[in-house]
Amino acid sequence: MAVALFTLGGTIAMAGVGRAGQDVGRGGGDDGGPGRGQDVGRGEGGGGGPVVARLTGADLTAAVPGLTELGTPLEIRDAHAVPSASLTTSHMLAVVRDASRAVAEGAAGVVVTQGTDTLEETAYLVDLVWPHEEPFVLTGAMRNPTLAGPDGPANLLAAVLVAEAAEARGLGALVVFNDEIHAARWARKTHSTSTAAFASPNAGPIGHVIEGGVRVLARPPRHEPLPVAPALPSGGPAGADGSDASGGPVGSEASDGFVAADASDASGGSVAAGASEAPRVALYTAALDDDGALLDGLADTHAGLVVAGFGVGHVPAPLAPVLGALAERIPVVLASRCGSGSVLRATYGAVGSEVDLQRRGLIDAGLLDPYKARILLRLLLADGADRSAVAAAFARHG
Ligand code: ASP
Repeated sequence: MAVALFTLGGTIAMAGVGRAGQDVGRGGGDDGGPGRGQDVGRGEGGGGGPVVARLTGADLTAAVPGLTELGTPLEIRDAHAVPSASLTTSHMLAVVRDASRAVAEGAAGVVVTQGTDTLEETAYLVDLVWPHEEPFVLTGAMRNPTLAGPDGPANLLAAVLVAEAAEARGLGALVVFNDEIHAARWARKTHSTSTAAFASPNAGPIGHVIEGGVRVLARPPRHEPLPVAPALPSGGPAGADGSDASGGPVGSEASDGFVAADASDASGGSVAAGASEAPRVALYTAALDDDGALLDGLADTHAGLVVAGFGVGHVPAPLAPVLGALAERIPVVLASRCGSGSVLRATYGAVGSEVDLQRRGLIDAGLLDPYKARILLRLLLADGADRSAVAAAFARHG
């Protein structure tokens, strides 16, 4: 059975600029980098210069030894060739919509290649809304194709193996790197350059790719997919050329099973990706001696706030009343800035502790890191969730 492959730019698709014999540009010009042929000097890592996303899905797959021998037909869709820092919720929801259509039409699974910088966030977003049994696998690369030992080809091969594996069905969105399989809900980018950048600090990888086989060792619990609210438009095209290649409507009526919250938003194609009116959710990291001045007026401009607190969910005492006042106006979620571990609920009682902050109305994120907590809160608020619905959802997902 076929695997649907969507390419979204990132290091895996980046090649040198303006070098003879590398005329593989994919057009669209939305990679945010310098144009072909510019004199951009010599870049990091011994390559021929700074790189931008230029490789198409056809280029990427042609560079993977062993992929053709798998015999898996790939339905390739080149989507947004942007660094992952410039991906938006709308871009991702457009891919989810088109991927939903692909599995409804028979694809065994989905692979998305993208930049690694925001992959832990986009993967979690997809995981929250993906309604299918078919695996949705995200991968990328830490070393671009112009460097010695690029990891993109191996990651892409492993991703395709996982996407078509019966063992991976029902696991939601997965992050496949370095022959490890991570559940999107637990995956973190933990290193800025290592090819082993992705890890699941709280759980470990849930599986491995070994000699071309897929071994799944743990199956994370799945939740009902969250609805995609009209405030998070997914009707824009996933293709880079601006055309709505799929042509069909997006909505709860759609045969692809993708759950839009409001069938009245089913026009599809009319809302440009990136034109989101989604609620703004701020992310704020507590730091030593912080008085919270940056939070002044936040409830006037934002619909929600995630606080990355110290350790088990603490902030400096002067910040506690500031957060309490905000929590009276907008949902404020408390996560840990540690990178692993949970916030606590009932251990410390000082001003600014987790118990104090809960009394002041903050909602605890459990094991969710601040980035994922922000993704979840934004989806919930876009769907009109009130404080108690937000608290219930975090109790479920955290
Ligand atoms: N800056 C790149 C990106 O996220 C890094 C990567 O792909 O690893 O698009």
